[in-house]
Amino acid sequence: MNFDERPFIAIWETTQACDLACVHCRACAQPGRHPLELSTNEAKRLIDEIAALQVPVFVLTGGDPLKRPDIFELVKLCLRQQVAYFADPQRDTFVPFHTRQPEPARQMRPLRVP
Ligand code: SF4
Repeated sequence: MNFDERPFIAIWETTQACDLACVHCRACAQPGRHPLELSTNEAKRLIDEIAALQVPVFVLTGGDPLKRPDIFELVKLCLRQQVAYFADPQRDTFVPFHTRQPEPARQMRPLRVP
């Protein structure tokens, strides 16, 4: 892989919102969503750009990504673009979808998207 062309990993903090709002939080999480976080359309453009770059691993994190009402819509777009890797810090789970990652990442249990 040529790192002059693309990074190996891109991490998007989908929201600053997280019910726990831990004092040590790297994302400076707060209970509510920040008014300047990406809109759904802006997020879709970001995902398209990540897909166009063919970044092997794309992490959706936060805050708590599930605080975004559009998160499953965005994850479905990631699935279509084959770039998603989902992180849910509150539940301490890291669930990969399609990625360009080699095994064993693909062997991990995929999240069921409603
Ligand atoms: S659970 Fe994780 S994301 Fe949520 S406030 Fe704590 S450290 Fe931040």
